[in-house]
Amino acid sequence: MAVLGSTGSVGTSTLDVVAALPERLAIAGLSAHSKWELLAEQCRRFRPRVAVLTDAEAFQRADRSVFPRETELLCGDDAVCALASAPDVDVVLAAVVGAAGLAGTWAALEAGKTVALANKETLVVGGQQVMGLAARRGATVLPVDSEHSAIFQALTGYTANDVAKVVLTASGGPFRGRTAADLESVSVEQALCHPTWKMGPKITVDSATMMNKALEVIEARWLFGLDAGRIDVIVHPESIVHSFVEFVDGSVLAQLSPPDMRLPIQFALTHPARVPGPARKLDWKTLTGLTFCQPDRATFRGLDLGFEAAARGGTCGAVLNGANEAAVAAFLAREIGFLDIARCCRAVIDAHDYDPAPPLAGLLAADRWARQEVARWTRTRPRTARP
Ligand code: NDP
Ligand code: MG
Repeated sequence: MAVLGSTGSVGTSTLDVVAALPERLAIAGLSAHSKWELLAEQCRRFRPRVAVLTDAEAFQRADRSVFPRETELLCGDDAVCALASAPDVDVVLAAVVGAAGLAGTWAALEAGKTVALANKETLVVGGQQVMGLAARRGATVLPVDSEHSAIFQALTGYTANDVAKVVLTASGGPFRGRTAADLESVSVEQALCHPTWKMGPKITVDSATMMNKALEVIEARWLFGLDAGRIDVIVHPESIVHSFVEFVDGSVLAQLSPPDMRLPIQFALTHPARVPGPARKLDWKTLTGLTFCQPDRATFRGLDLGFEAAARGGTCGAVLNGANEAAVAAFLAREIGFLDIARCCRAVIDAHDYDPAPPLAGLLAADRWARQEVARWTRTRPRTARP
């Protein structure tokens, strides 16, 4: 297998799974963006044929002598695409963050590979095109995102026609129960402090704004071929039920496990087999209650944007994702406030020139345009909040 984004949170959890299942899984290649020391350490441990750094500066700085002799160190997006489509790779675990992950997944699907997809932004930007490509090439997309893995597991043996609705669970993030007035001045540090999951910074901010769930609604729409009206969200602070599927007869199936990405990663890699692995198990002796409540859509404005983009399709996902990535980066750089993220995404979506059936190039152009619009919005925004 190849792991794209091996130095991230999902990437390192993936390598934990690979280390625990050496008789099933072997690493042909790894890719990272900038963390060359960690990449070298992973190469010494897993001995891949190839390792790629996509950040040219990191590639220049990287000390070749700490990489094993048998690993060829390459640079750039083309090398990632070559790895993703290489003959010795059966499965690509796509764990790059953001729309930057689209190219590698696209190359893998074009080559007919199985993609274990953590990088939800790929489906948010171009779900229709990506799933269409997979179907044409006989390639498979298996979900790694925990909610979608839960739905995939519950759906085994059924089709979309059997489903009345899917209900994605959301932890509610660090600001669950807070009012919009409270959130106007929250800090980057507070937003990065997630109560149940340990993840990379971008998705952690997305969880705090609930934009993560908005992106997951769009992800579910394309992954399972369900229209937006059959997708719902419920807040579940314990993060133990990873989603529900309600069937047309009224029966509801769910998948439960502690919040530990190693389980959905492993399931995507061993599917359909279930084997013992490193993920934490539920402790039935200490489990006392599971709670649920409705999301506060008036405070967490991003959620509506996800439902809207899932219903409209076309360029909406690419624009929403590009705007959100740029706005999260601006928030992390302390250029805009926390609530500005959803405000700015709303403004960019409303201003965009909607195309209902764009080609891939149109999606990439929409993504670039949205990022520029965020930069413009940041410069000229109404000063409602101090970062
Ligand atoms: P991290 O930020 O922890 O890791 C991101 C990885 O992508 C790193 O290996 C990083 O390299 C690499 N990367 C960053 N920028 C680029 C770029 N421009 N081109 C190529 N590679 C790049 O993210 P996470 O692991 O948290 O998330 C990865 C994906 O999985 C996201 O799409 C996220 O939404 C999804 N996901 C994550 C979950 C989690 O628990 N973390 C749960 C469900 C989904 P480097 O570090 O070397 O710079
Ligand atoms: Mg998720």
